Amino acid sequence: MDFKKELSAYFKEHCLLNEPMGNHTTYRTGGKAEVYVYPQSSEEWSFVLKLARTENIPLRIIGFGSNILVGGKGLGGIVCSTKRMNQVAVQDCRVTAQAGAALDKVCEVAVRARLAGMEKLSGIPGSIGGAVYMNAGAFGQETFDCLEYVEAIDYEGRPAVLLKENLPHSYRHVEGIENYIVLGAGFSLEKKDFASLLETRNSILHKRIEKQPLDLPSAGSVFKRPVGDYASRLIDEAGLRGLSIGGAKVSEKHAGFIVNFNHATPEDIKNLMDEVKRQVKEKSGVELELEQILWGEFGL
Ligand SMILES: Cc1cc2nc3c(=O)[nH]c(=O)nc-3n(C[C@H](O)[C@H](O)[C@H](O)COP(=O)(O)OP(=O)(O)OC[C@H]3O[C@@H](n4cnc5c(N)ncnc54)[C@H](O)[C@@H]3O)c2cc1C
Repeated sequence: MDFKKELSAYFKEHCLLNEPMGNHTTYRTGGKAEVYVYPQSSEEWSFVLKLARTENIPLRIIGFGSNILVGGKGLGGIVCSTKRMNQVAVQDCRVTAQAGAALDKVCEVAVRARLAGMEKLSGIPGSIGGAVYMNAGAFGQETFDCLEYVEAIDYEGRPAVLLKENLPHSYRHVEGIENYIVLGAGFSLEKKDFASLLETRNSILHKRIEKQPLDLPSAGSVFKRPVGDYASRLIDEAGLRGLSIGGAKVSEKHAGFIVNFNHATPEDIKNLMDEVKRQVKEKSGVELELEQILWGEFGL
């Protein structure tokens, strides 16, 4: 049987064919995925992994698509969403969450349980799996600061528990994580008073609304922070705030963001990324490095 039919028969309503990735990414644009599935149980993961392995089909994992740009030519193979895995639990000073739980929900749960360590990650619009994969962070706090362990499965279908000390990590980078599918994570937090935690969370949510163009589709900061500087400052200095290509524009509110302001194609966004990079290099000599992840092929 053809792999699409096999996945359709197995996953039923949890399998979509020729699915536009604009429906699953915060840029709200992107080519079609050949197959888009929502595995939940370990049996479902084993099924899809075995099929991909034996038939040599490309397989990708997506959380909330808040750091991905998918090329207009689309994605062959399978995209697996973690959205059906969204349980969160608190026991004493530990919070555990499945990969598809919203990071912001986990931050809120921690704050309500009077646990400190994740409150500054409030408002990051990704999943736990994406946060672990990217070592997402903000306001001086990173996912790995309070991470204890990652529950994972490798592409051969072997389960693993990865301890933080065995996962070398740095700014927006975790070594070796690309060899695993993150199924969940445990965070070790510290007791603190509720009022101060809530105040930090609320002030961070407020700062995000104030500083970021949250009314338009984007995928957050396009580039990593260069050592000792800010990408947004360099972009601004190069006079690129408001620069547009097609329906994509360097945000006027936050020059580190590219926004989809008018039905941008993925190619509009990609071309704008390249243009910003080129002009910043020319004007300041700094080589900006992409933070966002490009999937598939771009071009007409
Ligand atoms: C408005 C806005 C503000 C943002 N602010 C911040 C910020 O302050 N700080 C910050 O760090 N980021 C920020 N981001 C970017 C983004 O939210 C983070 O990078 C987030 O961690 C991505 O999570 P995700 O679930 O959306 O991952 P996705 O975009 O779905 O995936 C990102 C990568 O992680 C991999 N991945 C996802 N889930 C899994 C899994 N379960 N197992 C294995 N691999 C997986 C994917 O394959 C992909 O390579 C912002 C984005 C937006 C739109």
